[in-house]
Amino acid sequence: MLNKETGNMYRFVTHTWNPIKGVCYHGCKYCYMHPTWEKYRMDKPTLIQKEFTTDLNEGQRIFVGSSTDMFAEDIKDKWIKRVLDCCAAYNEDKPQGKHIIYFFQSKNPQRILQFIDHPVFKHAVVLTTLESNRNYPDIMCNAPRIEDRVKAMEIIAQKGIVTMVTVEPIMDFDTDEFAELIRRCKPRWVNIGKDEKKFVQLPEPTIEKTKELIKCLEACTEIGKVNIKENAQRWFNKA
Ligand code: SF4
Repeated sequence: MLNKETGNMYRFVTHTWNPIKGVCYHGCKYCYMHPTWEKYRMDKPTLIQKEFTTDLNEGQRIFVGSSTDMFAEDIKDKWIKRVLDCCAAYNEDKPQGKHIIYFFQSKNPQRILQFIDHPVFKHAVVLTTLESNRNYPDIMCNAPRIEDRVKAMEIIAQKGIVTMVTVEPIMDFDTDEFAELIRRCKPRWVNIGKDEKKFVQLPEPTIEKTKELIKCLEACTEIGKVNIKENAQRWFNKA
């Protein structure tokens, strides 16, 4: 089923599509999906066959895999290929300007590199999350290290694919180091967002420090738009 995006995630996304569902291997402690996985007693990821009857032409900008990381290491190659093939097939005969734009977000962009020559990436954006320049293993659990995410994103950007970075939920960082890691991803767009769910106590930066980071990012010519998400804006306004 193609779900209409309500704007909580990214405003530019029109729909989400989740052909792979189940508990994410990365296990980030703050993940908004934990209650859903518990409620429906979901287990390890599964390829949902009936999702392939969804008409993707109903969407214009589709976030594929918003409910579990479909590039995590426990996802089978053949499942990823099936999803990418399906997405690409919808764009095959479309005239210029009419293509569906797919958004693939992963904390394991190294795995995306394995498929990067797939035709789906002609009309796709690759996103990664960088919560900080620091690694917080107790919170990030099995997610790849920040530096590894950046290294992969650098290569993806060098291939001419549009990249984006989401700094959400933001965690305490070292300003210059963090700005440099984000710059290396050459993101067309950077999202700054705050933890809303409060499943765990996160090591949050101060507002002043966050504003300083935003200033650094906005001054960088290799970074596109810096978007302050509403939850971060509310946090700033409270101060
Ligand atoms: S990578 Fe994303 S989907 Fe997976 S546990 Fe972390 S926040 Fe949740």
